[in-house]
Order: sequence, then C-alpha cells, then structure tokens
Amino acid sequence: MKNQKDNGILKRKTKAFLAIPDKKPCEILRVVFLLFLQKLQQFLYGRYGGDKFSIFLLVLGLVFSLFGRLFFWPLFLLADALYIYALFRMLSRNVPARQREYAAFLKVWSPIENWFRFQKRRFAERKQYKYFKCPHCRQKLRAPRGRGKIEVTCQKCRQVFVTKT
Ligand SMILES: [Zn+2]
Repeated sequence: MKNQKDNGILKRKTKAFLAIPDKKPCEILRVVFLLFLQKLQQFLYGRYGGDKFSIFLLVLGLVFSLFGRLFFWPLFLLADALYIYALFRMLSRNVPARQREYAAFLKVWSPIENWFRFQKRRFAERKQYKYFKCPHCRQKLRAPRGRGKIEVTCQKCRQVFVTKT
C-alpha cells in the first residue's frame, strides 16, 4: 500500500516537472535516469541478489555454450538453462531457500577452492619453502629450503621423520 502511494506522488512530481518548457534536455535526462534507478531499486528490493553459486552457474553456462559451438550444438540449451537458473536465483524473493542452496554449494565448492588456493601459494613460495606431507598422518607441512636433510616433527601427530629441503 505504502509503495503505491509513493509511486503516485512520484508520477505527479514528474509530470509537473516535464510540463515546464524551458528545462534543459540534460536535466530531463538526469531526472529520467534517477527515476529509472529508483524503479530498478524498487524492483530489486527484497530479492536475493548474486552469490558465488550464481557466478559458478554463469561460468558453467559460458563453458557449455563454448562446447556447444565447438562440438555439439544441443549444449546451448543446457547453457541457456544455467543462465535462466542463475537469473532466477538473483531475482528470487525466497531468500532462505537461496541461502540453503548456497550452503549446499559451498560444502562442495569450498574444498575445491581451498585446493586451488593452496596450489597457488605453494607455487608462489616454491623457492622459499618445500612442501611435503607427514608420512604418518598425511598432514601437509612446509620447511624453508636450502637446509639439506632436516629432522621434522609433525605438528599434528608429533611423528619425527627426516626430509630433504
Ligand atoms: Zn603427522
């Protein structure tokens, strides 16, 4: 109810404004743009918006449409379905359902992301540190390079072993 009332006031104000003949076109454009922004804001109000899952769906859609171009055209349909699903999620007003989806997605995605992050760090530090695993519990460990053979105590299981750095 409140929104409708606000819209009414807004429309009346706009009409009054546009009726004045000697306003500069750029000012009219500015008002139209502001009105557009306001409409957009009203449209997006209460909607879920973007998250990493939607980005993932869009990227997957891009991959499928590329594969569709290269190999097998029906993959385009799959890409479109992914785009539509991503758009549906962003504009959805059922925020709790979208949050549940997102939590389920993160459960699968986070380990993958962490693995890539670890590889990146390992590569960046490849000259300073040697990375290795504890032979007993598989815990990932690192030691500064250039110290020859060293005795390492695992931080997790306290196993002592020798490794080259
Ligand atoms: Zn260990």
